[in-house]
Amino acid sequence: MLPDLKAVIELQQVDLKTGELGERIAAYPAGIEALASALKQFIHAHEERKGRLTANQKERRDLEGEAQVIREKIAKHKDQLYQVKTNEQYKAMLKEIGGEEGNLRSVEDRILEKMIEAEELQNQISDAAARLEGEKTRVESETRELEAHRETDLEEREGLLVERKRLDAALGETVRSIYERVRAGRHGVAVAEARDGFCTVCNVRLRPQAYNEVRTNEILVTCENCSRILYYVPPAAPADAGPEAPAKDTHASA
Ligand SMILES: [Zn+2]
Repeated sequence: MLPDLKAVIELQQVDLKTGELGERIAAYPAGIEALASALKQFIHAHEERKGRLTANQKERRDLEGEAQVIREKIAKHKDQLYQVKTNEQYKAMLKEIGGEEGNLRSVEDRILEKMIEAEELQNQISDAAARLEGEKTRVESETRELEAHRETDLEEREGLLVERKRLDAALGETVRSIYERVRAGRHGVAVAEARDGFCTVCNVRLRPQAYNEVRTNEILVTCENCSRILYYVPPAAPADAGPEAPAKDTHASA
């Protein structure tokens, strides 16, 4: 294979890999930030529920105070029932007591609602409290993992940049300028495999003569359509070599 062609194929691989690494490296801060933000939300929801439980307990105490006041009123009015003089007064007092008992029931219903709400909150708080340390540990370890991956990627990219310099230095001026020009205009891909008479990147058929030249891998040929530098991968030799070779071997060994 033409040394320039071999070098430019390798250079393309190095450049694509460098590009992928660059995207991955750029994405780590967002990943780390997402972990921190999820933990922050978890803690915030936990604190918010604790605040709601405190408020719930105060509301329940207030309602119990209200219920107590109503009960005392009812007891007082029941005592007064024996002191009234007329039937009308008696009826009026009974009606008042009936109204107060209705109020008491509605306050007691609200107390019950508060108790149910408090139980649910308490369960959620206990559950979150039990998970909190585990969540912190998980986020810390996942963050460390991402940071370690980032370090590895940075090192790998450093290595690739050294490799790129080496390949670039070995490249002839013509092929380098074609490579860089096409790479800039074609989303980073400046080299294409030719297969079955086609450029495999833009899918345009090559002229037969151009394809024949590409197949030698000894001449620099570019795709007439997309300008990419073309190379050819000869079909892999079958595992069971063709009929001639083994036949010869059989004869030779026999
Ligand atoms: Zn092409």
